[in-house]
Amino acid sequence: MALLEIRDLHKTFGHGKSLVPAVRGVDLDLEAGETVGLVGESGCGKTTLGRVVVGLNGATSGEIIFDGQSLDGHLSEPGFRRRIQMVFQHPAQSLNRRMRVARTLSEPLRLLTDADKDEIERRVDEVLRLVGLGPDYKGRTPRQMSGGQQQRIAIARALMPDPDVLVLDEPTSSLDQSVRGRIIALLKSIQDDRDVAYLFISHDLSTVRRIADRVAVMYLGRIVEEAPTEQIFEDPQHPYTKALLSALPTMDLDNRQERITLPGETPSPSDLPTGCSFQDRCPLVHDRCRVEQPLLASIGDRRSVECFAVAGGTTEPA
Ligand code: ADP
Ligand code: MG
Repeated sequence: MALLEIRDLHKTFGHGKSLVPAVRGVDLDLEAGETVGLVGESGCGKTTLGRVVVGLNGATSGEIIFDGQSLDGHLSEPGFRRRIQMVFQHPAQSLNRRMRVARTLSEPLRLLTDADKDEIERRVDEVLRLVGLGPDYKGRTPRQMSGGQQQRIAIARALMPDPDVLVLDEPTSSLDQSVRGRIIALLKSIQDDRDVAYLFISHDLSTVRRIADRVAVMYLGRIVEEAPTEQIFEDPQHPYTKALLSALPTMDLDNRQERITLPGETPSPSDLPTGCSFQDRCPLVHDRCRVEQPLLASIGDRRSVECFAVAGGTTEPA
C-alpha cells in the first residue's frame, strides 16, 4: 500500500457555463520516501493537483487516501495537516514579508502540534541547519535574504512539523541556474536524512530527471504516462511525452532526436473534444480516439500509458 493514494481525482473551477475542469480523473501513488516528478506544460493542472493534495482546494470528486485513511474531511485536523506540507514556486507565497525567520519557522509547530517553547526553539535551530543556514538567520525578514535563501526558509518552514509528504510546486523555477542546482542537492540530502516523500511539480524536465524516482506526465488535467524516471527519458511511449522530450537539448550527438513539433495549440480546458484530449495534435490518432476516452493502462512494471495506439485496445485501468 502506498503512503499517498490519489484516486480518480477531479477538480473543476467555476460555475454554470464557465467551467474549467483543471484536474480530470487523476490516479497517482506516492510511496514513503520516494520522489514522483509531475511534469507537463503550463496550465495542465499540476498546481491544482498539488493544492488539492494538501487541502488548499477541495476536490470536486475522487479520493485521497493517506496512510490507509481517506483524507476526506480530515485535512483540517492538525494531526493530518502536519504530515502533508507544500512549498510554493515563489518564496513570497510561503513567507510573510514582515515576519522574522524565527517566527516563520515556529508558527507551524505552534499551530499544528503541542510542542513547548524550548522544543520549538530546538527544532528551529535543527531545521535551519538542515537547510544549510546558521542561527544568525533567525532575526532576518525575507527582504534581508536572497531568493535562494528565502526558498531555503520556505522549505524549512514546510519541514518544521516533520511531514511525511512534501508537495514542491516548481520550487526552483524562480531561482538562478546555479542556485537551482544547490536547492536540488539540498532536497536530496534532506530526503536521505528524513525519508520524506516528494511530489515534485515542474515544467522543467532536466530538473525532474535529476531528482525524481518516477515521473508522471500530465496533459490537460489527466496523467497520460507514468514510469520510472530513466524509462520516461530513454523510452517515452505516449506521443505527448515524446514531443515534450524532443524539445530538450541533448549532449548525445549520435542519438540526437528530431524535434517533434505538434500541430495546433493545446485546447482550452473549458472546450475539450469528446474522446482523447490529445487527438487533434496526435500523430497516432485513429477513429476510436475521437469518441472514447482512453484510460491509463499498465504496459509493464510500474509503467502506464493512456493511449489506445500504444497500450493496444485495452481500457483496463492500470
Ligand atoms: P499548472 O500548474 O500546470 O500551470 P494550474 O493548476 O495552475 O496549472 O491550472 C490548471 C487550469 O485551471 C488552468 O486552465 C487554469 O487557468 C485553471 N485554474 C487554476 N486555478 C484556478 C482558479 N482559482 N479559478 C479558475 N480557474 C483556475
Ligand atoms: Mg503551476
